[in-house]
Amino acid sequence: MTTPVRRRRELLARAQEKTFDLLVIGGGITGAGIARQAAWMNISMALIEQADFASGTSSRSSKLLHGGLRYLAQGNFRLVREAVRERMAVYKAAPHLVRPLPFLFPQFEGNYPGMIRLAIGIWIYHAMIGFKSFGPHQRLSAAEIEKSIPGIRTAGLDGGYQYWDAQTDDARLTLEIILDAEALGATALNRVRLLAARQENGLWICDVEDTSTAAEFSIRTQSVAVAVGPWMDRMARIFDAEALRRMRPTQGVHILIPSARLSVPTAIVLLHPDDQRFMYAIPMESGTLIGTTDTDCSEPAVEPTVDNDSIDYLLRAANHFFPDKKLRRDDVFSMYAGLRPLILDDDVTASKVSREHAVYQLATNVVAIGGGKLTTWRPMANDAIAQILPSLRTTDTPSKAADREYRDRPLPGGVGIADREVLAGRTAEITSGYGLSMESAETVVYTYGARADAVLATAQSVAGGMKTYGRIGVLAGAFVFNVLHEHALTLDDLMRRRSRLYYTEYDQGRAVAREIAELVAPHVEWDDSRVDAEVAAYLELCL
Ligand code: FAD
Repeated sequence: MTTPVRRRRELLARAQEKTFDLLVIGGGITGAGIARQAAWMNISMALIEQADFASGTSSRSSKLLHGGLRYLAQGNFRLVREAVRERMAVYKAAPHLVRPLPFLFPQFEGNYPGMIRLAIGIWIYHAMIGFKSFGPHQRLSAAEIEKSIPGIRTAGLDGGYQYWDAQTDDARLTLEIILDAEALGATALNRVRLLAARQENGLWICDVEDTSTAAEFSIRTQSVAVAVGPWMDRMARIFDAEALRRMRPTQGVHILIPSARLSVPTAIVLLHPDDQRFMYAIPMESGTLIGTTDTDCSEPAVEPTVDNDSIDYLLRAANHFFPDKKLRRDDVFSMYAGLRPLILDDDVTASKVSREHAVYQLATNVVAIGGGKLTTWRPMANDAIAQILPSLRTTDTPSKAADREYRDRPLPGGVGIADREVLAGRTAEITSGYGLSMESAETVVYTYGARADAVLATAQSVAGGMKTYGRIGVLAGAFVFNVLHEHALTLDDLMRRRSRLYYTEYDQGRAVAREIAELVAPHVEWDDSRVDAEVAAYLELCL
């Protein structure tokens, strides 16, 4: 049987031996989308990611698939229309990862946008997808809101509107896109960083480092797609020393509050009392996610840190809208910061910078893509590929039929799953068939979709594999599945991106971290000192 260690060695060897048509730099959702579409078009390609897949911005978002009602107010109809349509398309491709969610936008006396403008905005939002949303929008009176959202501010409450968007697991969505790209022939490597690049005889020679061993080698490719999100300016200078500044990254912080302190039945759109910025309170498995901030960031860090001012800013908003809760810093059980890869526009404040994407020609046969949203990964990939295609010798433009087939192609966990009702049926079967709790069965089904059976088979095949961890009952065997089949290379990969223990547990999974590391250790050839190092590195990331 191929072990994860042997498999990685083979992937690294393949990356060094072949000459690719396309090398994608960056394993966030944008690079993943480009890789999947390129592999579908039979373009010989590889993708490298300096850390873990999705470890950049693509696991640090608000985890929403949405059109962004607020962009309507900025007159950005194209972006909103594209995003609301894509939200439905992602649901079709991966229903297990897309949870339809009602959003309530309460209106307070004298506040923006006011009931009439809000009603028009929501109508336009729904009209853009032919009124085929996850559910109907509706007007709610102040009394109805008070009843449905216990503890919400009542002073000046005029009423509000409820509409539908969706919630996702950003890291696993990105991972599934990468897994599908691999199924289509892509070579995908996490923990490989681009260091330098030069042109020789019409090829790009990209010098890279395997950051898990510090070994350096080169990858040969005809063309390059740079999809490094907020790191684009730094990367552009590798290909063009004189590259212009094109990005204006901004940092967004989220905090998590336990359900016992704040629980919301729907997502709530809030305007921050200090500056009237849009924010959300979003229901999560074991608490409420509050975010986000939007502040300029001059030097993007791989592991952006959360500052106290941002926590206080978010708590101020939460306490304004839920005045009796009196939330304090020690109510926060988890938090994270992400960097928006926004296109430079110095003339506006951070929160008004456009979320649209742009594709640039950086050098001969090198394109870069910046901006955009998690939700719009497919059109972003499509635009990047369109600009790359002329530089490739091998590929014809795909036919309309092939285009349609690609559009309808499910992600691996969505194969054969028409909608979430099918998943509810699978949950019931797994609960009774495997003697699992409802939470545990739901977690395996809504994390892995059609792949749940494979995860359960792995869990049954390893000692202690059916044990569960945390409030949402993550199967021990799922961690083994993650290292065997999902490129997990560190304990951090398992805790923050393959599972969500960092976000669901009030101790961020600290108490079970060592046990999980010891469970996977024989499969990834970790000795005792490596287990110690993995645990120490993970605890360092926690609060
Ligand atoms: P990234 O995910 O950052 O990926 C780029 C990758 O490149 C990184 O993983 C990085 O490690 C890698 N890289 C960098 N340098 C190198 C190198 N030298 N070699 C190899 N790899 C390298 N969008 C939505 O649709 N819905 C939301 O709810 C939402 N909320 C958001 C909330 C916040 C706070 C933020 C910050 C963003 C949010 N977004 C949202 C936007 C969305 O998350 C981003 O647009 C998207 O994730 C960007 O993906 P990306 O692949 O372009 O960048």
